[in-house]
Amino acid sequence: MKNDHIKHHNVIIVGGGPGGLGVAATLEGWHPIFKGDYKFPSSEVQRLAKQYENNPLALDMHALLDNGHRPIEFFRMRHHPTQEALPPDKWTLEFTKRARTDWLMLTTDSPGGLWNNVPREQMTLGPAHWMELAHYPIGKFYQETGRARDLDDLAHRDDLIDYYKAFTRKLNLENHIRTGVKITKISPALEKSRKAFIVDSVEQSTGRTKQYSCNHLVFAVGPRSAVRKLNVKGIQHEYISSAYTHPDDYPGERVVVIGGGRSADWAAQELHDSGRSVVYVMRQEASSHLNLISASQYLPYYQRWAEILTSEQERMGLLYSSKVTSFERDGLVNIATPEGSIVVQADHAIVEIGGDPDYGLLSSFGDLTFHKKRDNFRFQLNQMVVDQATFESVDIPHLYAAGYIAQGTGLSVIGFHAGCFLIAGDILSKSAEAE
Ligand SMILES: Cc1cc2nc3c(=O)[nH]c(=O)nc-3n(C[C@H](O)[C@H](O)[C@H](O)COP(=O)(O)OP(=O)(O)OC[C@H]3O[C@@H](n4cnc5c(N)ncnc54)[C@H](O)[C@@H]3O)c2cc1C
Repeated sequence: MKNDHIKHHNVIIVGGGPGGLGVAATLEGWHPIFKGDYKFPSSEVQRLAKQYENNPLALDMHALLDNGHRPIEFFRMRHHPTQEALPPDKWTLEFTKRARTDWLMLTTDSPGGLWNNVPREQMTLGPAHWMELAHYPIGKFYQETGRARDLDDLAHRDDLIDYYKAFTRKLNLENHIRTGVKITKISPALEKSRKAFIVDSVEQSTGRTKQYSCNHLVFAVGPRSAVRKLNVKGIQHEYISSAYTHPDDYPGERVVVIGGGRSADWAAQELHDSGRSVVYVMRQEASSHLNLISASQYLPYYQRWAEILTSEQERMGLLYSSKVTSFERDGLVNIATPEGSIVVQADHAIVEIGGDPDYGLLSSFGDLTFHKKRDNFRFQLNQMVVDQATFESVDIPHLYAAGYIAQGTGLSVIGFHAGCFLIAGDILSKSAEAE
């Protein structure tokens, strides 16, 4: 029986981060073309690229995969043929406008995904152009908004958020993006019809619930959609924050930072450099933290960490192999260290322990197959195993993993962005078959 309350779309994209936005632009009809003088290292790939240069989305990517080539590289090599930013006249990846397919994006945050929630002064870990989505080069955005920036420099989160917002305006995506909407469940459609998924959502401001259905679902919820919780006594006290923002938000003198990854490193350093006394509580051993610091010396804020470590450290207490055991009402924080228990008096405590992708949303599909991704940059998560030609889940037909959570992409925007072309190409081809 037809349910009139359920709004149907060909594609629903869950998540408005860089992963979801790339797919949205491509489904909107902004299709890649290869132009000018380009060269792939393999003659076989070069031949296919030339044959399909006016519509590479139409190439069945299994043709590449079956011959030992990674389909995601096919697009990535055109977008980023060199480590450095390309001048505009050197781009061989361009875009043409074709018909849109019916898609809708549902997302809690505004365009830009988790970048909306990082600390107010957060810089990227890599050059600005590594963060761009090819349909609208970030260099063009800088130019059009009067920003004098070097594309090979790190980017500030304010620029990035403005860029991802401008991306949605420039490419006419805005009318198909609903922000402030949280997906609570994705389940298989029971009716025997073309639609594959039922999507349950709640509008965050009103609590109103709504159901959607779709034929294809792009799962782009990012690495932190299920925030980790520190389950210790007293965690509800007001002096404890579950995410770090800016030193101005913590006016007191003494701050305990709990974590050990890059976000906690950022918080501890920024607070220290703004004059606070910091006690930094980490579960990891000292060697692990020191390895991260020494491997990250290409970043100014890790050079600063090296300076802090070699200084007197009067206002930075580093507690390794340690954990908070409870928080008391009056700011007393109990910490278990290898030398025994200690108590620290704090004005603020900041918990920065990261999160995981919210795979619980897919629990009605049974067990999923994961790839444990671990890298030197301390990004760790379970990525969804996907067909490397299409990024369709190996467990759930018509569900595609986009962005950070897809296997075979690396862990950064430069690594995963080109996946949007594989996803959109496969959806377009399946949609055409179904018509
Ligand atoms: C501090 C920090 C620094 C980083 N630095 C870099 C860097 O320099 N370079 C780099 O490439 N990467 C960096 N990353 C990695 C970062 O994950 C990527 O840049 C990028 O944001 C990932 O894109 P995404 O689209 O996969 O996910 P996200 O950006 O996380 O976007 C996913 C979005 O999905 C939405 N969502 C989640 N669950 C739901 C739900 N149930 N319902 C509705 N919407 C939902 C949310 O709005 C969320 O913001 C950094 C990450 C952090 C935390």
